[in-house]
Parts: sequence; structure tokens; C-alpha cells
Amino acid sequence: MTTTPAKPHRVVIVGAGFGGLETAFGLKGAAVEITLIDRRNHHLFQPLLYQVATASLATSEIAWPIRHLLRDRKEVTTLFASVNGVDTNEKRVLLEDGDTVPYDTLVLATGARHAYFGHDEWEPFAPGLKTLEDATTLRRRILVAFERAERESDPERRAALLTFVIIGAGPTGVELAGTIAELAQETLPPDFRNIDTHKARVVLIEAGPRVLAGFADDLSAYAQRSLEAIGVEVMLGQPVTECTADGVTYGGKRLDARTIIWAAGVRASRAAEWLGAPADRAHRLQVKPDLTVPGYPEIFAIGDTVTIAGPDGNPVPGIAPAAKQEGRYVAQVIRARLGGSMPGPFRYKHAGSLAQIGKRKAIIDFGKIKLRGMMPTIR
Ligand SMILES: Cc1cc2nc3c(=O)[nH]c(=O)nc-3n(C[C@H](O)[C@H](O)[C@H](O)COP(=O)(O)OP(=O)(O)OC[C@H]3O[C@@H](n4cnc5c(N)ncnc54)[C@H](O)[C@@H]3O)c2cc1C
Repeated sequence: MTTTPAKPHRVVIVGAGFGGLETAFGLKGAAVEITLIDRRNHHLFQPLLYQVATASLATSEIAWPIRHLLRDRKEVTTLFASVNGVDTNEKRVLLEDGDTVPYDTLVLATGARHAYFGHDEWEPFAPGLKTLEDATTLRRRILVAFERAERESDPERRAALLTFVIIGAGPTGVELAGTIAELAQETLPPDFRNIDTHKARVVLIEAGPRVLAGFADDLSAYAQRSLEAIGVEVMLGQPVTECTADGVTYGGKRLDARTIIWAAGVRASRAAEWLGAPADRAHRLQVKPDLTVPGYPEIFAIGDTVTIAGPDGNPVPGIAPAAKQEGRYVAQVIRARLGGSMPGPFRYKHAGSLAQIGKRKAIIDFGKIKLRGMMPTIR
């Protein structure tokens, strides 16, 4: 008599960013069949996107084909598809093209995107930086602005072409401002004949009272001084009230600028909407301590698309190490459910925060230990 082998447990992971990929890595050798779905064919190292946007790195240096990363894992199938819903009754993921993918366990790791605080009409004039396409679009805008300025005879129009506005002074805004300033001050001057790229203005506008609000006061003050030393104009406490093709209005003032970059806000993916589950103001799913979605023990959600309190009571930050830790934890829980010892609730461990200011300076906050200074000799 022959017996039919038990069907392997089907795990569907949506999103091959830091969280989703780490879940797939953590399930290596487990008795599961994995389907990894992403609407892009590459995994993206978002922390270095600003270097692609400022022509310091090529796209191939920060993106890798997802299926190549998992080519040795025969139990993993990679699908290039966009998810637009979940049928929780039938346990199926719904794809935009009408197909469905069944699951026994579902992991939602769909990240976040830009938020314009109710002003989506600003997006064409002030694009954000989230995808490889965003980075190449910004790179083109920045470099073309210098090219057009070189051929522009009208002084006002030339000044507007040489004005670069970055809205939002978090790590991305600070890193972009520092790198664009160095591009204008150090890299480009010998290449142009009719314009002096030293005269380009890089204006960093922030609604809050300081740059890098997530860092300690003294590090934030150091970052501001370092930005100003390389020519960045830092405007604090000045919310932007309008973005158009010609410039921005902030703090009641108008500034003509042809390049505006949005680095001010994010909102989570639509995962909470798909499930009709509770979410915070940034649309982040509120998950349970084992990272499952309330009411759905078979659905996990991780990374930038969720909110959960860390050991200090503050929300776990939306950074790559947090998404990776959550991905690893979910893989452990899935393994335990298939037979093994169950880990305790998820506990985030913060290893520190870093922001780079131009090529040479950086600040690092390890909590008790705080470092700032030149990159090779940081103290
Ligand atoms: C410009 C920038 C700079 C950053 N700098 C740093 C830094 O210096 N240090 C740091 O730690 N963190 C940094 N971060 C944050 C870090 O990148 C995120 O916290 C991390 O990527 C979150 O991982 P995730 O897996 O939740 O989402 P992501 O890595 O964003 O992955 C989500 C994946 O889901 C896919 N997806 C989304 N929706 C769908 C859908 N409907 N169907 C199919 N696929 C979908 C996406 O294509 C993507 O591949 C930065 C982020 C940005 C944008």
C-alpha cells in the first residue's frame, strides 16, 4: 500500500525587501514551499539610493535580481507580480492581473512609500526617493539642471536652474543635500565653462526645529554645522506650503527652483487596507507581539508596513535592521509551528543610527555612545 506524502506547508511572502528576503533566508531547510512575490524584479539597497540619485553609484551597485539571490533554493518560487488584495476566507493572495496564489501562511513585507501630507499634487514637482526609477529620475533632473544653466543667458532663470531644494531634514534629506552640495562645490566646477557651479544653492527645508530629529541634540547640531560648512542653506521651523514647477513656498517666502526633492514623509503600503486591519496614522498595520495580524494567526506583517512598540516603549524605527530582525523572527515562528520550540515575543535590538554628511563626515548614535567626525577617523 502506498501513502500520499503530506503536502508541504505553503508560505507566501509578499515583498522581497529587507524583511521579506530575510524571512525567506530564515526558512532555509524548513519543510515549506515558498512563493516570494514582488512587483519589482530586484531587491534594492535603499540606504544608498541617494548615491545613485547624485551620480556617485551606478544602479547595478545597489540592486540585485531577486531570483538570482534565491537561485540555489529549489523550494522557492519567485513571482514578478503586483499584489492588490488578500482573500482571507479562501486564503489566497490576489494579484493585479487577476491571478491568485494560495497560502497556508502569509507574510506581508510590502514596505512604505512617500506621503505628501494630503498634497499628492506636489509629487510631479517634488519627486521622492524610494525606488531605482526615482533615483535615476532625480539624477537626470539634477544633471540636466546644470546642463541647462550652462546654456541659459537670463540670470534669473539660470539662478533657478542652479537652486536645489530638499524638503525634509531626516537622514535622506541630509544625505542628499550634502552630496548635491559637494557635487556643485567639488566635482563639477572644472567641467563647465559658462557657469560657476560653486554658486549653486542647495536649500534644505525642515518644518521641525532641527535637522535629524531622531538623533541626540548635539549630533543634530553638529550635522547642521557640517552641512552649512559645505554650503547647504538650512531652513528650520519652516513648513512648505506649496510646490510648483517653478519653485516652493515655505515660511511665507517664495523660492524659485527647478529641482525640488521630497524627503519629508512616508506612509505604509496598502497591507492594512487589504486586511481591513487596525493601522496608525501612517497606515502602518498594528501587529501583535508575535508579528501576526490581530484576528489572523496565519498572517504575519513586518518591516516598514507595520508598527510595534520596541523595548523602550517607542515604536520600532522604520529602518533596514528592524525589518531584517522581524523577518528572521517570523521565520523562527513558522519553523516552530511546524514542530519546534516557540520563541518568545519579538524583541527589537537597536544597534545604532548613522547619517552621512557629504563624503567625509558622519554621525553615529549607539545610544550611550555617540560619535561624530571625519569618516576615516570617527571619534
Ligand atoms: C532613500 C532611503 C534611505 C534609507 N536609508 C536608510 C539607512 O541609511 N539605514 C536604514 O537602516 N534604513 C534606511 N532606509 C529605510 C529602509 O530602507 C527600510 O526601513 C527597509 O527597506 C524596510 O524594509 P521592508 O522589507 O519593510 O520594505 P522594503 O525594503 O521597502 O521592501 C518592500 C518590497 O515590497 C515590494 N512591494 C510593495 N508593494 C507591493 C505589492 N503591492 N505587490 C508586490 N510587491 C510589493 C516592493 O517592491 C519592495 O521590494 C532608507 C529608506 C529610503 C527610502
